Amino acid sequence: MSAEAARPLVDGFQRRISYLRLSVTDRCDLRCAYCMPERMTFLPRKEVLSLEELYQLSLGIIARGVTKIRITGGEPLVRRDIGDLFAALGKHVGSGLKELTLTTNATQLADHADALAKSGVRRVNISLDTLDRAKFEQLSRRDRLPQVLEGIAAAKQAGLKVKLNTVALKGVNEDEIAELIAWAHGLGHDVTLIEVMPLGEIDGDRIDHYLPLSQVRARLEEHWVLTDVEHSTGGPARYVNVAETGGQLGFITPLTNNFCAACNRLRVTATGQLYPCLGGGERVDLRAALRSDDPEGQLQAALDEAMRIKPERHHFDISERGQAPHLPRHMSMTGG
Ligand code: SAM
Ligand code: SF4
Repeated sequence: MSAEAARPLVDGFQRRISYLRLSVTDRCDLRCAYCMPERMTFLPRKEVLSLEELYQLSLGIIARGVTKIRITGGEPLVRRDIGDLFAALGKHVGSGLKELTLTTNATQLADHADALAKSGVRRVNISLDTLDRAKFEQLSRRDRLPQVLEGIAAAKQAGLKVKLNTVALKGVNEDEIAELIAWAHGLGHDVTLIEVMPLGEIDGDRIDHYLPLSQVRARLEEHWVLTDVEHSTGGPARYVNVAETGGQLGFITPLTNNFCAACNRLRVTATGQLYPCLGGGERVDLRAALRSDDPEGQLQAALDEAMRIKPERHHFDISERGQAPHLPRHMSMTGG
Protein backbone atom coordinates (compact mmCIF):
# COMPACT_ATOMS: atom_id res chain seq x y z
CA MET A 1 0.00 0.00 0.00
CA SER A 2 1.36 3.45 -0.89
CA ALA A 3 1.79 6.13 1.78
CA GLU A 4 -1.14 8.09 0.28
CA ALA A 5 -3.49 5.11 0.31
CA ALA A 6 -2.86 4.84 4.04
CA ARG A 7 -4.08 8.44 4.41
CA PRO A 8 -7.68 8.62 3.25
CA LEU A 9 -9.25 12.07 2.81
CA VAL A 10 -11.21 12.85 5.98
CA ASP A 11 -12.32 16.40 6.76
CA GLY A 12 -12.61 18.23 10.05
CA PHE A 13 -16.17 16.95 10.51
CA GLN A 14 -15.10 13.31 10.10
CA ARG A 15 -16.61 13.06 6.62
CA ARG A 16 -14.73 10.62 4.41
CA ILE A 17 -14.26 12.03 0.91
CA SER A 18 -14.70 9.45 -1.83
CA TYR A 19 -16.12 11.41 -4.77
CA LEU A 20 -14.45 13.93 -7.10
CA ARG A 21 -16.33 16.12 -9.54
CA LEU A 22 -13.81 17.28 -12.07
CA SER A 23 -14.60 20.12 -14.46
CA VAL A 24 -12.61 19.81 -17.67
CA THR A 25 -13.72 23.07 -19.30
CA ASP A 26 -15.73 26.15 -18.41
CA ARG A 27 -16.92 26.41 -22.04
CA CYS A 28 -20.31 25.32 -23.24
CA ASP A 29 -22.31 25.12 -26.46
CA LEU A 30 -25.51 26.14 -24.64
CA ARG A 31 -26.25 29.24 -22.56
CA CYS A 32 -28.90 28.05 -20.09
CA ALA A 33 -30.48 31.18 -18.64
CA TYR A 34 -30.23 30.02 -15.00
CA CYS A 35 -26.59 28.97 -15.44
CA MET A 36 -24.87 31.83 -17.27
CA PRO A 37 -25.51 35.13 -19.04
CA GLU A 38 -25.94 35.14 -22.81
CA ARG A 39 -22.62 36.95 -23.26
CA MET A 40 -20.58 34.70 -21.00
CA THR A 41 -16.84 35.31 -20.85
CA PHE A 42 -14.80 32.12 -20.92
CA LEU A 43 -11.29 31.58 -19.60
CA PRO A 44 -8.20 31.82 -21.82
CA ARG A 45 -7.24 28.26 -22.74
CA LYS A 46 -3.78 28.48 -21.18
CA GLU A 47 -5.38 28.80 -17.75
CA VAL A 48 -7.15 25.49 -18.17
CA LEU A 49 -5.38 22.30 -17.09
CA SER A 50 -3.89 20.16 -19.83
CA LEU A 51 -5.09 16.62 -20.30
CA GLU A 52 -1.91 15.34 -18.66
CA GLU A 53 -2.49 17.61 -15.66
CA LEU A 54 -6.10 16.47 -15.32
CA TYR A 55 -4.94 12.87 -15.38
CA GLN A 56 -2.09 13.41 -12.91
CA LEU A 57 -4.42 15.25 -10.55
CA SER A 58 -6.98 12.45 -10.77
CA LEU A 59 -4.37 9.80 -10.00
CA GLY A 60 -3.17 11.77 -6.95
CA ILE A 61 -6.73 11.94 -5.68
CA ILE A 62 -7.50 8.28 -6.43
CA ALA A 63 -4.40 7.43 -4.41
CA ARG A 64 -6.12 9.04 -1.39
CA GLY A 65 -9.10 6.73 -1.59
CA VAL A 66 -11.45 8.57 -3.95
CA THR A 67 -13.41 5.87 -5.77
CA LYS A 68 -15.79 7.85 -7.97
CA ILE A 69 -14.97 10.56 -10.52
CA ARG A 70 -17.59 12.53 -12.39
CA ILE A 71 -16.33 14.54 -15.36
CA THR A 72 -18.27 17.75 -15.79
CA GLY A 73 -17.99 21.36 -16.93
CA GLY A 74 -19.09 23.61 -18.68
CA GLU A 75 -19.89 21.00 -21.25
CA PRO A 76 -17.26 18.24 -21.02
CA LEU A 77 -17.92 16.93 -24.53
CA VAL A 78 -16.94 20.25 -26.18
CA ARG A 79 -13.35 19.62 -25.10
CA ARG A 80 -11.68 18.15 -28.14
CA ASP A 81 -9.32 15.70 -26.39
CA ILE A 82 -11.86 14.51 -23.83
CA GLY A 83 -12.07 10.95 -25.21
CA ASP A 84 -8.39 10.46 -24.30
CA LEU A 85 -9.05 11.40 -20.67
CA PHE A 86 -11.94 8.94 -20.44
CA ALA A 87 -9.80 6.24 -22.01
CA ALA A 88 -6.93 6.90 -19.58
CA LEU A 89 -9.07 7.11 -16.45
CA GLY A 90 -11.22 4.20 -17.58
CA LYS A 91 -8.17 1.93 -17.16
CA HIS A 92 -8.45 2.53 -13.40
CA VAL A 93 -12.06 1.40 -13.16
CA GLY A 94 -11.94 -1.78 -11.13
CA SER A 95 -8.56 -0.93 -9.61
CA GLY A 96 -8.86 2.13 -7.42
CA LEU A 97 -11.84 3.64 -9.16
CA LYS A 98 -15.26 2.08 -8.72
CA GLU A 99 -16.97 4.47 -11.08
CA LEU A 100 -16.13 6.92 -13.85
CA THR A 101 -19.03 8.96 -15.08
CA LEU A 102 -20.03 12.31 -16.57
CA THR A 103 -22.66 15.03 -16.57
CA THR A 104 -23.50 16.35 -20.01
CA ASN A 105 -26.08 18.38 -21.86
CA ALA A 106 -26.01 15.57 -24.47
CA THR A 107 -25.83 17.85 -27.53
CA GLN A 108 -22.79 15.85 -28.71
CA LEU A 109 -23.41 12.61 -26.87
CA ALA A 110 -24.47 10.74 -30.00
CA ASP A 111 -20.86 11.06 -31.25
CA HIS A 112 -19.32 9.92 -27.95
CA ALA A 113 -21.65 7.34 -26.41
CA ASP A 114 -19.99 4.21 -27.81
CA ALA A 115 -16.47 5.37 -26.96
CA LEU A 116 -17.54 6.31 -23.45
CA ALA A 117 -19.04 2.88 -22.90
CA LYS A 118 -15.85 1.27 -24.22
CA SER A 119 -13.80 3.39 -21.78
CA GLY A 120 -15.64 1.92 -18.82
CA VAL A 121 -18.35 4.54 -18.28
CA ARG A 122 -21.54 2.79 -17.18
CA ARG A 123 -23.86 5.64 -16.23
CA VAL A 124 -24.35 9.19 -17.44
CA ASN A 125 -26.28 12.15 -16.05
CA ILE A 126 -27.98 14.20 -18.75
CA SER A 127 -29.44 17.63 -18.14
CA LEU A 128 -32.83 18.18 -19.72
CA ASP A 129 -35.24 20.84 -18.53
CA THR A 130 -37.94 20.68 -21.20
CA LEU A 131 -39.24 18.53 -24.06
CA ASP A 132 -40.65 21.54 -25.86
CA ARG A 133 -38.32 22.62 -28.66
CA ALA A 134 -39.27 26.30 -28.58
CA LYS A 135 -38.93 26.41 -24.80
CA PHE A 136 -35.59 24.60 -24.99
CA GLU A 137 -34.32 27.20 -27.44
CA GLN A 138 -35.57 30.04 -25.29
CA LEU A 139 -34.06 28.60 -22.11
CA SER A 140 -30.70 27.45 -23.49
CA ARG A 141 -30.55 30.17 -26.19
CA ARG A 142 -29.74 27.44 -28.74
CA ASP A 143 -32.02 25.28 -30.90
CA ARG A 144 -30.51 21.91 -29.95
CA LEU A 145 -33.32 19.77 -28.52
CA PRO A 146 -33.25 17.27 -31.44
CA GLN A 147 -29.51 16.67 -30.90
CA VAL A 148 -30.07 16.19 -27.17
CA LEU A 149 -32.82 13.62 -27.76
CA GLU A 150 -30.55 11.85 -30.24
CA GLY A 151 -27.80 11.86 -27.61
CA ILE A 152 -30.11 10.33 -25.00
CA ALA A 153 -31.16 7.59 -27.42
CA ALA A 154 -27.53 6.91 -28.38
CA ALA A 155 -26.54 6.56 -24.73
CA LYS A 156 -29.24 3.97 -24.18
CA GLN A 157 -28.24 2.18 -27.35
CA ALA A 158 -24.62 2.06 -26.15
CA GLY A 159 -25.77 0.41 -22.91
CA LEU A 160 -25.21 3.44 -20.68
CA LYS A 161 -27.62 3.87 -17.78
CA VAL A 162 -29.13 7.34 -18.15
CA LYS A 163 -30.33 9.63 -15.38
CA LEU A 164 -31.93 12.92 -16.31
CA ASN A 165 -31.33 16.06 -14.24
CA THR A 166 -34.05 18.68 -14.47
CA VAL A 167 -33.83 22.09 -12.86
CA ALA A 168 -37.32 23.10 -11.67
CA LEU A 169 -37.95 26.59 -13.01
CA LYS A 170 -40.87 28.80 -12.11
CA GLY A 171 -42.83 29.89 -15.15
CA VAL A 172 -40.61 27.87 -17.50
CA ASN A 173 -41.07 24.13 -17.01
CA GLU A 174 -43.21 23.89 -13.88
CA ASP A 175 -46.29 22.80 -15.83
CA GLU A 176 -44.32 20.20 -17.75
CA ILE A 177 -42.45 18.38 -15.01
CA ALA A 178 -44.90 15.47 -14.65
CA GLU A 179 -44.92 14.94 -18.41
CA LEU A 180 -41.13 14.97 -18.55
CA ILE A 181 -40.88 12.45 -15.71
CA ALA A 182 -43.47 10.15 -17.30
CA TRP A 183 -41.63 10.32 -20.64
CA ALA A 184 -38.26 9.54 -19.04
CA HIS A 185 -39.59 6.72 -16.87
CA GLY A 186 -41.28 5.26 -19.95
CA LEU A 187 -37.82 4.97 -21.52
CA GLY A 188 -36.34 3.47 -18.35
CA HIS A 189 -34.47 6.61 -17.27
CA ASP A 190 -34.56 7.90 -13.68
CA VAL A 191 -35.04 11.63 -13.10
CA THR A 192 -33.66 13.98 -10.47
CA LEU A 193 -35.19 17.39 -9.92
CA ILE A 194 -32.92 20.23 -8.78
CA GLU A 195 -33.62 23.57 -7.16
CA VAL A 196 -31.92 26.50 -8.84
CA MET A 197 -28.91 27.72 -6.84
CA PRO A 198 -27.62 31.30 -6.50
CA LEU A 199 -24.27 30.84 -8.25
CA GLY A 200 -22.88 33.54 -10.53
CA GLU A 201 -24.45 36.54 -12.22
CA ILE A 202 -27.09 35.81 -14.85
CA ASP A 203 -29.30 38.06 -17.00
CA GLY A 204 -32.32 38.74 -14.77
CA ASP A 205 -33.19 37.91 -11.18
CA ARG A 206 -32.99 34.35 -9.86
CA ILE A 207 -36.06 34.81 -7.74
CA ASP A 208 -38.05 34.77 -11.00
CA HIS A 209 -36.83 31.19 -11.64
CA TYR A 210 -36.71 29.83 -8.13
CA LEU A 211 -39.28 27.10 -7.53
CA PRO A 212 -39.09 25.20 -4.21
CA LEU A 213 -39.26 21.45 -4.81
CA SER A 214 -41.62 21.09 -1.86
CA GLN A 215 -44.20 22.78 -4.14
CA VAL A 216 -43.32 20.54 -7.09
CA ARG A 217 -43.65 17.42 -4.95
CA ALA A 218 -47.01 18.53 -3.55
CA ARG A 219 -48.30 19.10 -7.08
CA LEU A 220 -47.05 15.70 -8.31
CA GLU A 221 -48.74 14.06 -5.32
CA GLU A 222 -52.10 15.38 -6.47
CA HIS A 223 -51.92 12.76 -9.25
CA TRP A 224 -49.22 10.28 -8.25
CA VAL A 225 -48.32 8.11 -5.27
CA LEU A 226 -44.72 8.83 -4.26
CA THR A 227 -43.07 6.43 -1.81
CA ASP A 228 -39.82 7.41 -0.11
CA VAL A 229 -36.89 5.13 -0.88
CA GLU A 230 -34.60 4.48 2.04
CA HIS A 231 -31.34 4.31 0.15
CA SER A 232 -28.67 6.90 0.16
CA THR A 233 -25.92 7.38 -2.40
CA GLY A 234 -24.06 9.58 0.06
CA GLY A 235 -25.19 12.39 -2.21
CA PRO A 236 -27.65 15.20 -1.74
CA ALA A 237 -30.66 13.60 -3.46
CA ARG A 238 -33.64 12.07 -1.66
CA TYR A 239 -35.47 9.47 -3.76
CA VAL A 240 -39.04 8.32 -4.20
CA ASN A 241 -40.66 5.61 -6.31
CA VAL A 242 -43.51 6.76 -8.52
CA ALA A 243 -46.22 4.08 -8.41
CA GLU A 244 -47.88 5.15 -11.67
CA THR A 245 -44.71 5.17 -13.81
CA GLY A 246 -42.66 2.53 -11.99
CA GLY A 247 -39.64 4.84 -12.10
CA GLN A 248 -37.48 6.56 -9.55
CA LEU A 249 -37.47 10.29 -8.87
CA GLY A 250 -34.83 12.24 -6.93
CA PHE A 251 -35.09 15.64 -5.28
CA ILE A 252 -32.04 17.85 -4.73
CA THR A 253 -33.13 20.63 -2.43
CA PRO A 254 -30.12 22.73 -1.44
CA LEU A 255 -32.34 25.66 -0.50
CA THR A 256 -35.33 24.09 1.21
CA ASN A 257 -33.30 21.32 2.93
CA ASN A 258 -29.67 21.37 3.80
CA PHE A 259 -27.92 18.17 2.74
CA CYS A 260 -24.35 18.78 3.87
CA ALA A 261 -24.01 16.38 6.79
CA ALA A 262 -23.30 13.41 4.52
CA CYS A 263 -21.19 15.29 1.97
CA ASN A 264 -18.52 13.02 0.49
CA ARG A 265 -17.28 15.16 -2.39
CA LEU A 266 -14.69 17.57 -3.69
CA ARG A 267 -14.94 19.77 -6.76
CA VAL A 268 -12.09 20.83 -9.01
CA THR A 269 -12.47 23.51 -11.68
CA ALA A 270 -10.93 23.34 -15.13
CA THR A 271 -8.14 25.62 -13.88
CA GLY A 272 -7.33 23.20 -11.07
CA GLN A 273 -8.92 25.14 -8.22
CA LEU A 274 -10.22 22.72 -5.63
CA TYR A 275 -13.41 23.91 -3.94
CA PRO A 276 -14.22 21.63 -1.03
CA CYS A 277 -17.79 23.04 -0.99
CA LEU A 278 -20.03 24.02 -3.93
CA GLY A 279 -21.51 26.77 -1.77
CA GLY A 280 -18.31 28.08 -0.17
CA GLY A 281 -15.45 30.35 -1.18
CA GLU A 282 -12.76 28.10 0.37
CA ARG A 283 -10.24 26.97 -2.23
CA VAL A 284 -6.85 25.40 -2.76
CA ASP A 285 -4.79 25.78 -5.91
CA LEU A 286 -3.95 22.37 -7.36
CA ARG A 287 -2.65 23.90 -10.60
CA ALA A 288 0.10 25.71 -8.69
CA ALA A 289 0.90 22.41 -6.97
CA LEU A 290 0.99 20.52 -10.28
CA ARG A 291 3.20 23.16 -11.90
CA SER A 292 5.62 23.33 -8.93
CA ASP A 293 9.03 21.62 -8.59
CA ASP A 294 7.48 18.87 -6.49
CA PRO A 295 4.09 18.19 -8.09
CA GLU A 296 3.30 14.99 -6.20
CA GLY A 297 4.32 16.31 -2.77
CA GLN A 298 2.62 19.67 -3.30
CA LEU A 299 -0.55 18.01 -4.60
CA GLN A 300 -0.82 15.82 -1.52
CA ALA A 301 -0.16 18.81 0.77
CA ALA A 302 -2.90 20.76 -1.04
CA LEU A 303 -5.34 17.88 -0.52
CA ASP A 304 -4.53 17.89 3.21
CA GLU A 305 -5.22 21.61 3.25
CA ALA A 306 -8.57 21.06 1.49
CA MET A 307 -9.56 18.63 4.25
CA ARG A 308 -8.67 21.24 6.84
CA ILE A 309 -10.79 23.99 5.27
CA LYS A 310 -13.84 22.05 4.02
CA PRO A 311 -16.74 23.88 5.69
CA GLU A 312 -19.50 22.13 7.59
CA ARG A 313 -22.29 23.38 5.32
CA HIS A 314 -23.34 25.91 2.71
CA HIS A 315 -25.69 28.85 3.30
CA PHE A 316 -27.57 29.30 0.03
CA ASP A 317 -30.50 31.67 0.04
CA ILE A 318 -32.84 33.04 -2.64
CA SER A 319 -35.44 34.95 -0.72
CA GLU A 320 -35.34 38.52 -1.89
CA ARG A 321 -35.53 40.33 -5.20
CA GLY A 322 -32.27 42.01 -6.20
CA GLN A 323 -30.15 39.70 -4.04
CA ALA A 324 -26.53 39.38 -5.18
CA PRO A 325 -25.51 35.80 -6.05
CA HIS A 326 -24.33 33.85 -3.03
CA LEU A 327 -21.01 33.36 -4.84
CA PRO A 328 -19.63 35.11 -7.92
CA ARG A 329 -18.63 31.87 -9.66
CA HIS A 330 -21.03 30.12 -12.01
CA MET A 331 -22.05 26.47 -11.78
CA SER A 332 -20.37 26.03 -15.17
CA MET A 333 -17.06 26.82 -13.49
CA THR A 334 -17.29 24.55 -10.46
CA GLY A 335 -19.17 21.85 -12.35
CA GLY A 336 -22.68 20.72 -11.48
N1 SAM B 1 -23.07 21.18 -19.21
C1 SAM B 1 -23.33 20.00 -18.48
C2 SAM B 1 -24.82 19.86 -18.19
O1 SAM B 1 -25.55 20.83 -18.36
O2 SAM B 1 -25.20 18.77 -17.80
C3 SAM B 1 -22.56 19.86 -17.18
C4 SAM B 1 -22.35 21.08 -16.35
S1 SAM B 1 -23.83 21.83 -15.72
C5 SAM B 1 -23.15 23.21 -14.85
C6 SAM B 1 -24.30 20.66 -14.48
C7 SAM B 1 -25.69 20.79 -13.91
O3 SAM B 1 -25.80 22.01 -13.21
C8 SAM B 1 -26.79 20.79 -14.93
O4 SAM B 1 -27.73 19.79 -14.59
C9 SAM B 1 -27.43 22.16 -14.82
O5 SAM B 1 -28.78 22.12 -15.06
C10 SAM B 1 -27.09 22.51 -13.39
N2 SAM B 1 -27.05 23.94 -13.10
C11 SAM B 1 -26.39 24.92 -13.73
N3 SAM B 1 -26.55 26.11 -13.11
C12 SAM B 1 -27.34 25.87 -12.03
C13 SAM B 1 -27.86 26.67 -10.98
N4 SAM B 1 -27.58 27.96 -10.90
N5 SAM B 1 -28.63 26.06 -10.06
C14 SAM B 1 -28.90 24.72 -10.11
N6 SAM B 1 -28.43 23.92 -11.07
C15 SAM B 1 -27.66 24.48 -12.02
FE1 SF4 C 1 -23.97 24.71 -20.37
FE2 SF4 C 1 -24.68 22.91 -18.54
FE3 SF4 C 1 -24.61 25.55 -17.95
FE4 SF4 C 1 -26.47 24.69 -19.60
S1 SF4 C 1 -26.23 24.08 -17.46
S2 SF4 C 1 -25.17 26.50 -19.93
S3 SF4 C 1 -25.46 23.06 -20.65
S4 SF4 C 1 -22.89 24.27 -18.45
